[in-house]
Amino acid sequence: MDPIVILTFYWAFRLKSYLSSSHFQISFVEDIMQGTMLKEKTALVTGSTSGIGLGIARTFAAQGANIVFNGFGEIKEIETLQATVRDEFSVQTAYHNADMSKPAEIEAMMKFAADKFGGVDVLVNNAGIQHVANVEDFPVEKWDAIIAINLSSAFHTTRLALPSMKAKNWGRIINIASVHGLVGSAQKAAYVAAKHGIVGFTKVVALETAHSGITCNAICPGWVLTPLVQKQVDARAAQQGLSNDDAKKGLLSEKQPSGEFVTPAQLGELAAFLASDAASQVRGVAWNMDGGWIAQ
Ligand code: NAD
Repeated sequence: MDPIVILTFYWAFRLKSYLSSSHFQISFVEDIMQGTMLKEKTALVTGSTSGIGLGIARTFAAQGANIVFNGFGEIKEIETLQATVRDEFSVQTAYHNADMSKPAEIEAMMKFAADKFGGVDVLVNNAGIQHVANVEDFPVEKWDAIIAINLSSAFHTTRLALPSMKAKNWGRIINIASVHGLVGSAQKAAYVAAKHGIVGFTKVVALETAHSGITCNAICPGWVLTPLVQKQVDARAAQQGLSNDDAKKGLLSEKQPSGEFVTPAQLGELAAFLASDAASQVRGVAWNMDGGWIAQ
């Protein structure tokens, strides 16, 4: 055979092998389109009866994960929510009502998840509350509750999830921080302290797991229109005599350049990326999705 033809075949073969090597595989896009990325995995999402946690739980269920729900709410509504997710995505679900401010209840929830599904593969520390007041007026019990729910609960779930993740050499820990994990706002002392704390905690867990198949990252949303933010919209509307719509516009225009709310579904997609194999080298980041808030 002509040596030029042989050389052409040789280089075509080398190029094909190179392009199909792991450097160029678009596994995330392919996996997510098939909806099987988290099949046979279990995701526990704290505070998933509402808002962002529910958005993330739904996205993970859409990728085949069994879901352990947690959070407050009417038991009938939570049962309906679980049934909807089971029917829509053909996954298993469970619910534990642990109060995230109580370490003993968090331990019971983690044991429940281990007994039911053999451990937690994807842990999303999302439960959170807010209280707005100047430091000198900040109720001490609100400070303690915000630190316990928004920060310490993540320490407890993480320390309890890590042994089984280490045994499988695979795990994803996703902490829902906030833009307030990166910058401050007046009247949010406890929230900003807790969210900066969780960004720091994320980095330490990422370093301690750096040589394993476990990653730990934080997501930092800007304004998302959930019950937590609607309370702030209502307070603004009452204080300034505004309509609900004008209060929302005012809230957004102060901080979020896009002038639009981030959605729970968008945050779910980002969480799905962080849970993917494509993100296995994303470690210890605090990733903002905030309509430009932090860019200012
Ligand atoms: P949300 O009020 O809609 O949901 C909060 C969830 O946490 C609910 O399921 C609630 O039942 C649960 N929860 C509250 N206290 C709990 C406790 N003690 N134990 C167990 N569960 C408890 O609020 P959201 O806006 O979806 O907030 C979710 C997370 O996102 C929080 O950590 C919040 O700080 C963060 N976040 C929200 C925004 C936003 O604009 N909404 C922005 C940045 C970050």
